[in-house]
Amino acid sequence: MAVMEKSDVKSAGQEAIPVKNPVTGATIGSIPVMTRDEVQAAAQRARAAQPAWEALGVKERAKLLLKWSDALIADLENAIRIIRSETGKNRMGAWEEVIVIASTVNYYHYRAPGILRPQSRRPLVIGKQKAKVYYKPHGICGFITPWNYPMLNALQDLIPALFAGNTVLHKPSEVTPLTSIYAVELMHKVGIPKDVIQIITGAGTTGAALVDVVDYVAFTGSTATGRKIAMRCAERLIPCSLELGGKDPLIVLKDANLDLAASGTVVGGLDNAGQICISTERVYVEDPVYDQYVEKLKYYVQQMNIGTGDGMFDVHMGSMTNERELLKVEDQVAEAVQKGAKLVTGGKRRPDIGPLFYEPTVLTDVNHDMKVMREETFGPVIPVMRVKDADEAIRLANDSEYGLSGAIYTHDLKRGEALATRVQSGDMHINCTQWIFGMPSLPMGGVKNSGLGRRNGPEGLLRFVKSQSLVIDNQLMDKPKLTQLDPFTMRVALLLMKLRRLLPRLLV
Ligand code: ADP
Repeated sequence: MAVMEKSDVKSAGQEAIPVKNPVTGATIGSIPVMTRDEVQAAAQRARAAQPAWEALGVKERAKLLLKWSDALIADLENAIRIIRSETGKNRMGAWEEVIVIASTVNYYHYRAPGILRPQSRRPLVIGKQKAKVYYKPHGICGFITPWNYPMLNALQDLIPALFAGNTVLHKPSEVTPLTSIYAVELMHKVGIPKDVIQIITGAGTTGAALVDVVDYVAFTGSTATGRKIAMRCAERLIPCSLELGGKDPLIVLKDANLDLAASGTVVGGLDNAGQICISTERVYVEDPVYDQYVEKLKYYVQQMNIGTGDGMFDVHMGSMTNERELLKVEDQVAEAVQKGAKLVTGGKRRPDIGPLFYEPTVLTDVNHDMKVMREETFGPVIPVMRVKDADEAIRLANDSEYGLSGAIYTHDLKRGEALATRVQSGDMHINCTQWIFGMPSLPMGGVKNSGLGRRNGPEGLLRFVKSQSLVIDNQLMDKPKLTQLDPFTMRVALLLMKLRRLLPRLLV
Protein backbone atom coordinates (compact mmCIF):
# COMPACT_ATOMS: atom_id res chain seq x y z
CA MET A 1 0.00 0.00 0.00
CA ALA A 2 1.65 3.23 -1.13
CA VAL A 3 0.37 5.28 1.76
CA MET A 4 2.87 8.05 1.21
CA GLU A 5 1.59 8.68 -2.30
CA LYS A 6 -2.04 8.61 -1.24
CA SER A 7 -1.66 11.05 1.61
CA ASP A 8 -2.97 14.56 0.98
CA VAL A 9 -0.82 15.95 3.80
CA LYS A 10 2.52 15.06 2.24
CA SER A 11 4.73 17.92 1.27
CA ALA A 12 8.15 17.89 -0.37
CA GLY A 13 10.89 16.85 2.01
CA GLN A 14 8.42 15.87 4.74
CA GLU A 15 9.71 13.41 7.29
CA ALA A 16 8.32 9.88 6.85
CA ILE A 17 8.19 6.74 8.97
CA PRO A 18 8.56 3.37 7.23
CA VAL A 19 6.10 0.60 8.05
CA LYS A 20 7.59 -2.89 8.23
CA ASN A 21 6.30 -6.42 8.01
CA PRO A 22 7.66 -8.01 11.21
CA VAL A 23 7.76 -11.49 9.67
CA THR A 24 9.84 -10.61 6.60
CA GLY A 25 11.42 -7.36 7.77
CA ALA A 26 10.36 -5.81 4.43
CA THR A 27 9.17 -2.21 4.23
CA ILE A 28 5.54 -2.30 3.15
CA GLY A 29 4.62 1.38 3.25
CA SER A 30 5.42 4.67 4.88
CA ILE A 31 3.54 7.44 6.60
CA PRO A 32 4.22 11.14 6.71
CA VAL A 33 4.98 12.71 10.09
CA MET A 34 2.30 15.38 10.35
CA THR A 35 3.36 18.68 11.81
CA ARG A 36 1.57 20.67 14.50
CA ASP A 37 0.17 22.99 11.79
CA GLU A 38 -1.19 20.07 9.79
CA VAL A 39 -2.85 18.64 12.90
CA GLN A 40 -4.37 22.04 13.59
CA ALA A 41 -5.70 22.25 10.02
CA ALA A 42 -7.26 18.78 10.36
CA ALA A 43 -8.90 19.90 13.61
CA GLN A 44 -10.37 22.94 11.86
CA ARG A 45 -11.90 20.70 9.22
CA ALA A 46 -13.21 18.36 11.91
CA ARG A 47 -14.75 21.26 13.81
CA ALA A 48 -16.44 22.58 10.69
CA ALA A 49 -17.87 19.13 9.88
CA GLN A 50 -19.14 18.36 13.39
CA PRO A 51 -22.46 20.26 13.50
CA ALA A 52 -23.79 18.54 10.36
CA TRP A 53 -22.69 15.13 11.66
CA GLU A 54 -24.45 15.81 14.96
CA ALA A 55 -27.56 17.14 13.19
CA LEU A 56 -27.82 13.94 11.15
CA GLY A 57 -29.13 12.19 14.26
CA VAL A 58 -28.01 8.99 15.90
CA LYS A 59 -30.19 6.70 13.76
CA GLU A 60 -28.76 8.00 10.48
CA ARG A 61 -25.23 7.81 11.84
CA ALA A 62 -25.95 4.26 12.99
CA LYS A 63 -27.08 3.32 9.46
CA LEU A 64 -23.83 4.59 7.97
CA LEU A 65 -21.73 2.78 10.55
CA LEU A 66 -23.61 -0.45 9.95
CA LYS A 67 -23.04 -0.03 6.21
CA TRP A 68 -19.34 0.34 6.96
CA SER A 69 -19.27 -2.76 9.14
CA ASP A 70 -21.04 -4.75 6.39
CA ALA A 71 -18.45 -3.51 3.88
CA LEU A 72 -15.69 -4.56 6.27
CA ILE A 73 -17.10 -8.06 6.59
CA ALA A 74 -17.53 -8.28 2.80
CA ASP A 75 -13.83 -7.38 2.53
CA LEU A 76 -12.78 -9.65 5.42
CA GLU A 77 -9.91 -11.40 3.62
CA ASN A 78 -8.34 -8.11 2.60
CA ALA A 79 -8.73 -6.71 6.11
CA ILE A 80 -7.07 -9.81 7.57
CA ARG A 81 -4.23 -9.52 5.06
CA ILE A 82 -3.53 -5.90 5.97
CA ILE A 83 -3.65 -6.53 9.74
CA ARG A 84 -1.30 -9.50 9.43
CA SER A 85 1.09 -7.69 7.12
CA GLU A 86 2.01 -5.12 9.76
CA THR A 87 1.62 -7.18 12.96
CA GLY A 88 2.82 -10.67 12.01
CA LYS A 89 -0.05 -12.19 13.97
CA ASN A 90 -1.76 -15.44 13.04
CA ARG A 91 -4.89 -15.56 10.93
CA MET A 92 -7.26 -16.29 13.82
CA GLY A 93 -5.98 -13.20 15.67
CA ALA A 94 -6.65 -10.93 12.70
CA TRP A 95 -10.08 -12.51 12.13
CA GLU A 96 -11.01 -11.83 15.75
CA GLU A 97 -10.10 -8.17 15.39
CA VAL A 98 -12.49 -7.66 12.48
CA ILE A 99 -15.34 -9.68 13.94
CA VAL A 100 -15.20 -7.92 17.31
CA ILE A 101 -15.39 -4.57 15.54
CA ALA A 102 -18.43 -5.69 13.55
CA SER A 103 -20.17 -6.90 16.70
CA THR A 104 -19.37 -3.61 18.46
CA VAL A 105 -21.09 -1.75 15.62
CA ASN A 106 -24.03 -4.12 15.89
CA TYR A 107 -24.34 -3.49 19.61
CA TYR A 108 -24.33 0.29 19.34
CA HIS A 109 -26.51 0.27 16.23
CA TYR A 110 -29.16 -1.35 18.38
CA ARG A 111 -28.45 0.35 21.73
CA ALA A 112 -27.10 3.82 21.02
CA PRO A 113 -30.42 5.50 20.10
CA GLY A 114 -31.89 4.42 23.46
CA ILE A 115 -28.82 5.33 25.52
CA LEU A 116 -28.54 8.78 23.93
CA ARG A 117 -32.27 9.58 24.05
CA PRO A 118 -33.05 12.62 26.26
CA GLN A 119 -34.14 11.41 29.69
CA SER A 120 -36.89 12.67 31.97
CA ARG A 121 -36.00 12.95 35.64
CA ARG A 122 -38.09 13.82 38.68
CA PRO A 123 -38.45 17.62 39.04
CA LEU A 124 -38.69 19.42 42.38
CA VAL A 125 -42.31 20.49 41.98
CA ILE A 126 -44.26 17.84 40.12
CA GLY A 127 -47.02 19.27 37.91
CA LYS A 128 -45.27 22.61 37.62
CA GLN A 129 -41.81 21.64 36.45
CA LYS A 130 -40.17 19.16 34.13
CA ALA A 131 -36.58 17.94 34.51
CA LYS A 132 -34.73 16.58 31.50
CA VAL A 133 -31.22 15.49 30.53
CA TYR A 134 -29.86 15.86 27.01
CA TYR A 135 -26.66 14.19 25.83
CA LYS A 136 -24.49 16.28 23.58
CA PRO A 137 -21.23 15.29 21.87
CA HIS A 138 -17.96 16.81 23.07
CA GLY A 139 -17.08 18.04 19.56
CA ILE A 140 -13.81 16.53 18.30
CA CYS A 141 -12.54 13.36 19.93
CA GLY A 142 -8.90 12.37 19.49
CA PHE A 143 -7.82 8.72 19.51
CA ILE A 144 -4.23 7.69 20.05
CA THR A 145 -3.91 3.97 19.67
CA PRO A 146 -1.32 1.18 19.90
CA TRP A 147 0.06 -1.46 17.57
CA ASN A 148 -0.94 -4.75 19.21
CA TYR A 149 -4.52 -4.77 17.85
CA PRO A 150 -4.44 -2.18 15.07
CA MET A 151 -8.09 -2.64 14.20
CA LEU A 152 -9.69 -3.66 17.47
CA ASN A 153 -7.87 -1.31 19.81
CA ALA A 154 -8.18 1.60 17.44
CA LEU A 155 -11.76 1.25 16.34
CA GLN A 156 -13.59 -0.28 19.27
CA ASP A 157 -13.02 2.93 21.20
CA LEU A 158 -13.69 5.21 18.29
CA ILE A 159 -16.98 3.76 17.04
CA PRO A 160 -19.15 4.98 19.95
CA ALA A 161 -17.65 8.48 19.62
CA LEU A 162 -18.99 8.59 16.05
CA PHE A 163 -22.39 7.22 17.15
CA ALA A 164 -22.53 10.03 19.71
CA GLY A 165 -22.09 12.72 17.02
CA ASN A 166 -18.45 13.65 17.52
CA THR A 167 -16.00 14.06 14.72
CA VAL A 168 -12.79 12.12 15.12
CA LEU A 169 -9.07 12.60 14.66
CA HIS A 170 -7.37 9.25 14.87
CA LYS A 171 -3.64 8.79 15.29
CA PRO A 172 -2.78 5.13 14.96
CA SER A 173 0.53 3.77 16.18
CA GLU A 174 3.37 4.59 13.81
CA VAL A 175 4.22 0.86 13.93
CA THR A 176 0.87 -0.27 12.47
CA PRO A 177 -0.88 2.63 10.70
CA LEU A 178 -1.99 0.77 7.57
CA THR A 179 -4.97 -0.98 9.16
CA SER A 180 -6.46 2.29 10.39
CA ILE A 181 -5.84 3.98 7.05
CA TYR A 182 -7.62 1.11 5.31
CA ALA A 183 -10.57 1.10 7.76
CA VAL A 184 -11.08 4.85 7.56
CA GLU A 185 -10.86 4.89 3.76
CA LEU A 186 -13.61 2.26 3.79
CA MET A 187 -15.71 4.53 6.03
CA HIS A 188 -15.33 7.33 3.50
CA LYS A 189 -16.29 4.94 0.67
CA VAL A 190 -19.60 4.05 2.33
CA GLY A 191 -20.52 7.71 2.76
CA ILE A 192 -19.17 8.86 6.11
CA PRO A 193 -17.92 12.36 5.26
CA LYS A 194 -14.14 12.73 4.92
CA ASP A 195 -13.81 15.37 7.60
CA VAL A 196 -15.91 13.42 10.10
CA ILE A 197 -13.05 11.00 10.60
CA GLN A 198 -9.49 11.80 9.63
CA ILE A 199 -6.28 9.89 10.11
CA ILE A 200 -3.39 11.73 11.71
CA THR A 201 -0.05 10.11 10.95
CA GLY A 202 3.15 10.41 12.93
CA ALA A 203 4.73 9.39 16.22
CA GLY A 204 4.78 10.85 19.74
CA THR A 205 5.19 14.52 18.80
CA THR A 206 2.23 14.33 16.42
CA GLY A 207 0.24 12.61 19.17
CA ALA A 208 1.10 15.43 21.56
CA ALA A 209 -0.05 17.99 18.95
CA LEU A 210 -3.34 16.11 18.65
CA VAL A 211 -3.96 16.31 22.40
CA ASP A 212 -3.70 20.10 22.10
CA VAL A 213 -6.53 20.53 19.57
CA VAL A 214 -9.30 18.11 20.50
CA ASP A 215 -12.11 18.22 23.07
CA TYR A 216 -11.63 14.68 24.40
CA VAL A 217 -8.72 12.22 24.27
CA ALA A 218 -9.05 8.43 24.32
CA PHE A 219 -5.66 6.82 24.63
CA THR A 220 -4.68 3.16 24.58
CA GLY A 221 -1.03 2.37 25.21
CA SER A 222 1.65 2.42 27.85
CA THR A 223 1.13 3.78 31.35
CA ALA A 224 4.08 6.17 30.93
CA THR A 225 2.62 7.83 27.81
CA GLY A 226 -0.91 7.72 29.25
CA ARG A 227 0.24 9.67 32.28
CA LYS A 228 1.82 12.38 30.08
CA ILE A 229 -1.41 12.66 28.08
CA ALA A 230 -3.57 12.85 31.21
CA MET A 231 -1.39 15.67 32.54
CA ARG A 232 -1.80 17.67 29.35
CA CYS A 233 -5.56 17.03 29.36
CA ALA A 234 -5.70 18.28 32.94
CA GLU A 235 -3.94 21.49 31.89
CA ARG A 236 -6.42 21.95 29.07
CA LEU A 237 -9.35 20.90 31.32
CA ILE A 238 -10.59 18.38 28.80
CA PRO A 239 -11.78 14.87 29.67
CA CYS A 240 -9.82 11.79 28.73
CA SER A 241 -9.93 8.04 29.07
CA LEU A 242 -6.85 5.87 29.32
CA GLU A 243 -6.58 2.15 28.65
CA LEU A 244 -3.10 1.32 29.89
CA GLY A 245 -0.94 -1.58 30.91
CA GLY A 246 -1.89 -4.67 32.84
CA LYS A 247 -0.34 -7.54 34.79
CA ASP A 248 -3.35 -9.80 34.90
CA PRO A 249 -3.49 -12.61 37.44
CA LEU A 250 -5.04 -16.02 36.86
CA ILE A 251 -5.87 -18.05 39.97
CA VAL A 252 -6.29 -21.83 39.88
CA LEU A 253 -8.17 -23.20 42.89
CA LYS A 254 -7.81 -26.81 43.97
CA ASP A 255 -11.34 -27.75 42.84
CA ALA A 256 -10.76 -26.53 39.25
CA ASN A 257 -10.85 -28.75 36.17
CA LEU A 258 -7.08 -28.70 35.63
CA ASP A 259 -7.13 -29.48 31.91
CA LEU A 260 -9.48 -26.57 31.26
CA ALA A 261 -7.50 -24.34 33.62
CA ALA A 262 -4.21 -25.18 31.88
CA SER A 263 -5.54 -24.77 28.35
CA GLY A 264 -7.37 -21.60 29.47
CA THR A 265 -4.03 -20.26 30.69
CA VAL A 266 -2.57 -20.95 27.25
CA VAL A 267 -5.30 -18.85 25.63
CA GLY A 268 -5.03 -16.12 28.28
CA GLY A 269 -1.25 -15.90 28.23
CA LEU A 270 -0.25 -16.72 24.67
CA ASP A 271 -3.03 -15.41 22.45
CA ASN A 272 -1.62 -12.72 20.15
CA ALA A 273 1.85 -13.87 21.32
CA GLY A 274 1.02 -12.40 24.72
CA GLN A 275 0.86 -8.87 23.32
CA ILE A 276 -2.47 -7.99 24.90
CA CYS A 277 -3.12 -5.52 27.66
CA ILE A 278 -5.46 -8.09 29.24
CA SER A 279 -3.23 -11.13 28.79
CA THR A 280 -2.61 -13.54 31.65
CA GLU A 281 0.76 -12.55 33.07
CA ARG A 282 0.83 -14.15 36.52
CA VAL A 283 -0.57 -17.52 37.57
CA TYR A 284 -1.22 -18.47 41.20
CA VAL A 285 -2.02 -22.13 41.86
CA GLU A 286 -3.22 -23.67 45.12
CA ASP A 287 -0.59 -25.96 46.57
CA PRO A 288 -2.41 -29.34 46.38
CA VAL A 289 -2.86 -29.11 42.58
CA TYR A 290 0.26 -27.12 41.69
CA ASP A 291 2.43 -29.95 40.32
CA GLN A 292 -0.40 -31.50 38.35
CA TYR A 293 -1.37 -28.13 36.88
CA VAL A 294 2.22 -27.34 35.82
CA GLU A 295 2.51 -30.71 34.07
CA LYS A 296 -0.72 -30.05 32.17
CA LEU A 297 0.29 -26.49 31.31
CA LYS A 298 3.60 -27.75 29.92
CA TYR A 299 1.74 -30.36 27.88
CA TYR A 300 -0.67 -27.85 26.31
CA VAL A 301 2.01 -25.24 25.65
CA GLN A 302 4.12 -27.84 23.88
CA GLN A 303 1.19 -28.68 21.60
CA MET A 304 1.29 -25.15 20.22
CA ASN A 305 2.22 -24.62 16.63
CA ILE A 306 3.93 -21.31 16.01
CA GLY A 307 4.52 -20.02 12.53
CA THR A 308 3.65 -17.83 9.60
CA GLY A 309 1.08 -20.08 7.93
CA ASP A 310 -2.46 -19.17 6.97
CA GLY A 311 -4.19 -21.95 8.95
CA MET A 312 -7.11 -20.69 10.98
CA PHE A 313 -7.05 -23.27 13.78
CA ASP A 314 -3.67 -24.93 13.44
CA VAL A 315 -1.31 -21.95 13.66
CA HIS A 316 -1.73 -21.07 17.31
CA MET A 317 0.73 -18.23 17.55
CA GLY A 318 2.40 -15.86 15.14
CA SER A 319 5.24 -13.38 15.38
CA MET A 320 5.72 -10.69 17.95
CA THR A 321 5.33 -7.25 16.41
CA ASN A 322 7.81 -5.06 18.18
CA GLU A 323 11.50 -5.79 18.77
CA ARG A 324 11.56 -3.46 21.80
CA GLU A 325 9.04 -5.72 23.60
CA LEU A 326 10.94 -8.85 22.62
CA LEU A 327 14.11 -7.46 24.22
CA LYS A 328 12.11 -6.74 27.37
CA VAL A 329 10.74 -10.29 27.41
CA GLU A 330 14.26 -11.72 27.10
CA ASP A 331 15.46 -9.49 29.92
CA GLN A 332 12.58 -10.51 32.23
CA VAL A 333 13.05 -14.22 31.56
CA ALA A 334 16.83 -13.99 32.09
CA GLU A 335 16.42 -12.07 35.34
CA ALA A 336 13.84 -14.55 36.66
CA VAL A 337 16.08 -17.54 35.87
CA GLN A 338 19.06 -15.81 37.42
CA LYS A 339 17.00 -15.26 40.60
CA GLY A 340 15.99 -18.92 40.81
CA ALA A 341 12.99 -19.41 38.50
CA LYS A 342 12.79 -22.67 36.56
CA LEU A 343 12.33 -22.60 32.80
CA VAL A 344 9.79 -25.36 32.15
CA THR A 345 9.51 -24.84 28.41
CA GLY A 346 10.39 -22.22 25.77
CA GLY A 347 12.61 -19.26 26.56
CA LYS A 348 14.23 -18.81 23.15
CA ARG A 349 13.88 -16.77 19.98
CA ARG A 350 13.03 -18.67 16.80
CA PRO A 351 14.97 -16.91 14.03
CA ASP A 352 14.39 -20.00 11.86
CA ILE A 353 10.73 -18.87 11.56
CA GLY A 354 11.18 -15.09 11.60
CA PRO A 355 13.20 -12.38 13.35
CA LEU A 356 10.60 -11.64 16.05
CA PHE A 357 9.34 -15.12 16.89
CA TYR A 358 9.73 -16.19 20.52
CA GLU A 359 8.81 -19.59 21.92
CA PRO A 360 5.81 -19.88 24.22
CA THR A 361 7.45 -19.91 27.63
CA VAL A 362 6.52 -21.22 31.07
CA LEU A 363 8.43 -20.28 34.22
CA THR A 364 7.85 -21.76 37.67
CA ASP A 365 9.30 -21.01 41.12
CA VAL A 366 8.82 -17.31 40.49
CA ASN A 367 8.18 -14.67 43.15
CA HIS A 368 7.27 -11.01 43.39
CA ASP A 369 10.94 -9.92 43.57
CA MET A 370 11.21 -10.76 39.88
CA LYS A 371 10.40 -8.28 37.10
CA VAL A 372 8.40 -10.97 35.31
CA MET A 373 5.87 -10.84 38.19
CA ARG A 374 5.82 -7.05 38.56
CA GLU A 375 6.39 -5.35 35.19
CA GLU A 376 4.10 -5.69 32.20
CA THR A 377 5.22 -8.50 29.86
CA PHE A 378 4.20 -7.94 26.25
CA GLY A 379 5.18 -11.40 25.06
CA PRO A 380 4.38 -15.14 25.30
CA VAL A 381 5.52 -15.81 28.87
CA ILE A 382 3.54 -17.51 31.64
CA PRO A 383 5.08 -17.34 35.14
CA VAL A 384 3.49 -19.70 37.68
CA MET A 385 3.64 -19.37 41.47
CA ARG A 386 2.55 -21.79 44.20
CA VAL A 387 0.17 -20.40 46.86
CA LYS A 388 -1.11 -21.79 50.16
CA ASP A 389 -4.78 -20.97 49.56
CA ALA A 390 -7.29 -18.66 47.85
CA ASP A 391 -6.67 -15.83 50.33
CA GLU A 392 -2.97 -15.79 49.56
CA ALA A 393 -3.76 -15.86 45.84
CA ILE A 394 -6.02 -12.83 46.14
CA ARG A 395 -3.49 -10.97 48.28
CA LEU A 396 -0.76 -11.58 45.68
CA ALA A 397 -3.11 -10.78 42.79
CA ASN A 398 -3.71 -7.38 44.38
CA ASP A 399 -0.01 -6.83 45.04
CA SER A 400 0.47 -4.99 41.75
CA GLU A 401 0.46 -1.44 40.47
CA TYR A 402 -1.94 -2.63 37.76
CA GLY A 403 -5.58 -3.74 37.79
CA LEU A 404 -7.01 -4.47 34.37
CA SER A 405 -8.43 -7.99 34.01
CA GLY A 406 -7.98 -11.40 35.59
CA ALA A 407 -9.39 -14.90 35.96
CA ILE A 408 -10.26 -17.53 38.55
CA TYR A 409 -10.64 -21.22 37.72
CA THR A 410 -12.88 -23.12 40.11
CA HIS A 411 -15.72 -25.64 40.08
CA ASP A 412 -17.62 -23.54 42.63
CA LEU A 413 -19.08 -20.69 40.56
CA LYS A 414 -20.61 -18.89 43.57
CA ARG A 415 -17.36 -18.88 45.47
CA GLY A 416 -15.53 -17.86 42.30
CA GLU A 417 -17.84 -14.87 41.94
CA ALA A 418 -17.32 -13.82 45.55
CA LEU A 419 -13.53 -14.12 45.24
CA ALA A 420 -13.50 -12.29 41.90
CA THR A 421 -15.04 -9.19 43.45
CA ARG A 422 -12.13 -9.08 45.92
CA VAL A 423 -9.63 -8.63 43.08
CA GLN A 424 -8.78 -5.00 42.30
CA SER A 425 -9.42 -4.93 38.55
CA GLY A 426 -11.70 -3.53 35.89
CA ASP A 427 -13.02 -6.98 34.99
CA MET A 428 -12.68 -10.61 36.04
CA HIS A 429 -13.41 -13.89 34.29
CA ILE A 430 -14.45 -17.13 35.97
CA ASN A 431 -13.30 -20.28 34.15
CA CYS A 432 -12.31 -18.37 31.01
CA THR A 433 -10.10 -15.49 29.89
CA GLN A 434 -10.15 -12.65 27.34
CA TRP A 435 -13.87 -12.82 26.52
CA ILE A 436 -14.42 -9.27 27.75
CA PHE A 437 -13.02 -8.09 24.39
CA GLY A 438 -15.78 -9.85 22.52
CA MET A 439 -18.66 -8.59 24.68
CA PRO A 440 -19.44 -5.01 23.69
CA SER A 441 -22.19 -4.88 26.32
CA LEU A 442 -19.67 -5.04 29.20
CA PRO A 443 -17.62 -2.03 30.27
CA MET A 444 -13.90 -2.67 30.06
CA GLY A 445 -11.05 -0.68 31.55
CA GLY A 446 -8.62 -0.50 34.40
CA VAL A 447 -8.11 0.57 37.98
CA LYS A 448 -4.83 1.75 39.57
CA ASN A 449 -2.12 2.27 36.91
CA SER A 450 -4.19 0.41 34.33
CA GLY A 451 -6.19 3.48 33.47
CA LEU A 452 -9.25 5.65 33.70
CA GLY A 453 -12.66 5.29 32.11
CA ARG A 454 -14.36 2.39 30.41
CA ARG A 455 -14.85 1.33 26.81
CA ASN A 456 -17.95 -0.60 25.63
CA GLY A 457 -21.42 -0.85 27.13
CA PRO A 458 -23.50 2.25 27.92
CA GLU A 459 -20.49 3.57 29.87
CA GLY A 460 -18.33 3.45 26.74
CA LEU A 461 -20.82 5.58 24.82
CA LEU A 462 -21.73 8.04 27.56
CA ARG A 463 -18.10 9.07 28.01
CA PHE A 464 -18.28 10.68 24.56
CA VAL A 465 -21.12 13.02 25.51
CA LYS A 466 -21.63 15.72 28.06
CA SER A 467 -24.95 15.93 29.77
CA GLN A 468 -27.03 19.08 29.67
CA SER A 469 -29.83 19.34 32.20
CA LEU A 470 -32.99 21.34 31.55
CA VAL A 471 -35.46 22.61 34.15
CA ILE A 472 -38.72 23.60 32.42
CA ASP A 473 -41.28 25.51 34.48
CA ASN A 474 -44.86 26.08 33.29
CA GLN A 475 -45.27 29.05 35.71
CA LEU A 476 -48.33 27.51 37.37
CA MET A 477 -49.50 29.89 40.12
CA ASP A 478 -46.39 32.06 39.69
CA LYS A 479 -46.43 35.73 40.62
CA PRO A 480 -43.72 38.32 40.09
CA LYS A 481 -41.12 38.01 42.92
CA LEU A 482 -37.73 39.25 44.06
CA THR A 483 -36.54 36.12 45.87
CA GLN A 484 -36.52 32.49 44.75
CA LEU A 485 -38.66 31.38 47.70
CA ASP A 486 -41.84 32.86 49.14
CA PRO A 487 -43.72 31.53 52.20
CA PHE A 488 -46.02 29.36 50.09
CA THR A 489 -43.22 27.80 48.00
CA MET A 490 -41.19 27.15 51.16
CA ARG A 491 -44.14 25.29 52.71
CA VAL A 492 -44.55 23.24 49.50
CA ALA A 493 -40.81 22.44 49.39
CA LEU A 494 -40.78 21.27 53.04
CA LEU A 495 -43.92 19.19 52.51
CA LEU A 496 -42.42 17.58 49.40
CA MET A 497 -39.23 16.77 51.32
CA LYS A 498 -41.27 14.89 53.96
CA LEU A 499 -43.43 13.14 51.37
CA ARG A 500 -40.32 12.04 49.47
CA ARG A 501 -39.15 10.14 52.58
CA LEU A 502 -42.50 8.32 52.68
CA LEU A 503 -43.04 7.76 48.95
CA PRO A 504 -39.56 7.59 47.42
CA ARG A 505 -40.64 5.46 44.48
CA LEU A 506 -43.22 7.99 43.42
CA LEU A 507 -41.49 11.23 44.24
CA VAL A 508 -37.70 10.85 44.17
P1 ADP B 1 3.97 1.91 22.12
O1 ADP B 1 5.17 2.72 21.70
O2 ADP B 1 4.31 0.62 22.71
O3 ADP B 1 2.89 1.86 21.10
P2 ADP B 1 3.19 4.15 23.63
O4 ADP B 1 2.34 4.28 24.82
O5 ADP B 1 4.53 4.78 23.70
O6 ADP B 1 3.31 2.62 23.35
O7 ADP B 1 2.46 4.73 22.36
C1 ADP B 1 1.11 4.52 22.07
C2 ADP B 1 0.65 5.62 21.15
O8 ADP B 1 0.92 6.89 21.76
C3 ADP B 1 1.34 5.67 19.80
O9 ADP B 1 0.37 6.03 18.83
C4 ADP B 1 2.38 6.78 19.98
O10 ADP B 1 2.73 7.42 18.76
C5 ADP B 1 1.63 7.74 20.88
N1 ADP B 1 2.49 8.64 21.70
C6 ADP B 1 3.72 8.40 22.18
N2 ADP B 1 4.14 9.45 22.95
C7 ADP B 1 3.14 10.37 22.97
C8 ADP B 1 2.94 11.65 23.57
N3 ADP B 1 3.86 12.21 24.35
N4 ADP B 1 1.77 12.29 23.37
C9 ADP B 1 0.79 11.72 22.61
N5 ADP B 1 0.93 10.53 22.00
C10 ADP B 1 2.07 9.85 22.16
